[in-house]
Amino acid sequence: MAVPVSQAWTVATYVLKQKLKGRKKYPLVLMLEPLFRCNLACAGCGKIQYPAHILKAELSPEDCFNAVEECGTPMVAIPGGEPLLHPQMPEIVAGLVARKKYVYMCTNALLLKEKLHLFKPSKYLSFSVHVDGQREHHDFSVCREGGYDIAMEGVRAAVAAGFRVTTNTTLFDGADPNSVRAHFDELMTVGVESMMVSPGYTYDKAPDQKHFLGRARSKKLFRSILSNRKKTWRFNASPIFMEFLMGKKDLTCTPWGMPTFSIFGWQKPCYLLQDGYADSFKELVETVQWSNYGTESGNPQCANCMVHSGYEASGVNYTFGSIKGLLQTAKAIFFNKYEDEGAMKLLNEWKPAHSGPLVQIASPTSAAEKTSELQGVSGD
Ligand code: SF4
Repeated sequence: MAVPVSQAWTVATYVLKQKLKGRKKYPLVLMLEPLFRCNLACAGCGKIQYPAHILKAELSPEDCFNAVEECGTPMVAIPGGEPLLHPQMPEIVAGLVARKKYVYMCTNALLLKEKLHLFKPSKYLSFSVHVDGQREHHDFSVCREGGYDIAMEGVRAAVAAGFRVTTNTTLFDGADPNSVRAHFDELMTVGVESMMVSPGYTYDKAPDQKHFLGRARSKKLFRSILSNRKKTWRFNASPIFMEFLMGKKDLTCTPWGMPTFSIFGWQKPCYLLQDGYADSFKELVETVQWSNYGTESGNPQCANCMVHSGYEASGVNYTFGSIKGLLQTAKAIFFNKYEDEGAMKLLNEWKPAHSGPLVQIASPTSAAEKTSELQGVSGD
């Protein structure tokens, strides 16, 4: 099982309750961004380009708890920035666990090993470690040589200490499906509970605009990666979302499914776009013109988007939307190995793209200096 039974049960009963209430726009996972500063400077990131005074700002534990109570989701993901740089992160996580929220703390794991003692293992807490592929690919993606080895050391330490550890992998153009499959093998070998994989999104603020995937290329890539699955692989994404990535299902985006709360408030309309902010979750749901978003809307910002934060909730909604959805999901979980000769051929014939030299956007030293400088100003 990719998640504990208690978590699957909590999510299933939550979704069914929303459906029984006739609530059309319900949130599934709160994306809680308590800060934007980070100790990496990845080429594909749209968060760390804020000016210094924004990077120094952070949500208080009370801000976080209020947002969680307000939107009422059973799961909370904590991206950023790097959450482990927030001085009150242990208090925030403990408060969410006390509220019986299933927490996925998204981290690049550079600080995981040294900060592990500040957290307590719980079925409600999972470290979701960002690893974009095998060593060379990950280091290239995060623009830091040695980043992979540090992250995996953090993963091993957290697994050994009894924590739930999952991974999230973002794929960009040039990803080699054979290498991604080998990466999955490596992650399962070190004992991660389950893996999440998603195409990246073209952030207009990201320094690297060349390496984002279009929809057709995404489907081809994911078909070759996720077909002919190995028995050992476990994923923590909706099976229907994964079929969507493989081009086997059509889904429309559910931008309200993973609402984002940060120092600016509730982000309109989704985790990726910033068309203003609302003061409350209710205001977000009621004031956004939702028909302006999603691939079908014709909005160019949504044209190529297939990301997890937009479509995971769509997959879950599909599952619980009908008996057919439930049966298809059960089949996907228990029986379907997605055998596909065409996908095997794609794998065998795939020519790895030359990724070019590693670009060290921020050296480890300068990133660390920037971080400690920001921490110093914010009184950490
Ligand atoms: S399609 Fe992507 S960018 Fe557009 S609203 Fe959905 S999640 Fe956001």
